[in-house]
Amino acid sequence: MSGRRRLLASIHDVTPVHTARLDRLVPLVEEAIGPGRFALLVVPDFHKQGLLTADPGFGRRLRGWSDAGCEMFLHGFTHLDESRHDSSVARWKATRMTAGEGEFLGLSTHDAETRIAEGRDMIEQLIGRSIAGFVAPAWLYSEDSIAALAAQNIRMIEDHFRVWNPQTSAVLARGPVVTYASRSPVRIASSILWSRLATMLLARAQTVRLAVHPHDVDSPRLLAEIARALAAFARSHRPSPYRDLVPG
Ligand SMILES: [Zn+2]
Repeated sequence: MSGRRRLLASIHDVTPVHTARLDRLVPLVEEAIGPGRFALLVVPDFHKQGLLTADPGFGRRLRGWSDAGCEMFLHGFTHLDESRHDSSVARWKATRMTAGEGEFLGLSTHDAETRIAEGRDMIEQLIGRSIAGFVAPAWLYSEDSIAALAAQNIRMIEDHFRVWNPQTSAVLARGPVVTYASRSPVRIASSILWSRLATMLLARAQTVRLAVHPHDVDSPRLLAEIARALAAFARSHRPSPYRDLVPG
């Protein structure tokens, strides 16, 4: 294993709403790369049906994962895009790149700041330590939301192609994220193809990001490929925390 090559694995959409799916997904990731060696992207009130503070048992699980070493990222607040999109680019992204999940694509700076501050406080009170950063639902950001993240002193965010600091614009890692879509048989098939290619194409990449979602467990084929890809990358890359990307 190369000491310098890093695997940054993450589980998206961590919410009490997905408890049953997380019960299957977390052990699979732990089995492949070890407990505490992946990031969790936490949604404070997923689809307005999963307020973290209303489920103390789930809060204790979050704390346990955090104590085991998992980094926690704030991942939107509701994960729902309820904004009216005035620009055609935003409208295109909102409808073509996600099924109504791009919460941070259309928020004003003020509204984004409110959600970031509330969400961060909720998670940090549960885990008793700081969050590592923020990842927008569907990896979609508006200019205003990036300004809001910088104003709220968030120092690490990521999209499909890079990890960066919104305050300084310093890029911490580049490269496509390996992720999986479970919404239809065609998407499942193309996800598996991309994952197989990626384990070859990215075998020598300095940093590999691999992201999984609770709904991935609905497809046995996806789950098998995720386990294979994680194990393959873990042979060439050290499962690492995102904080290792920060120089010094
Ligand atoms: Zn998400």
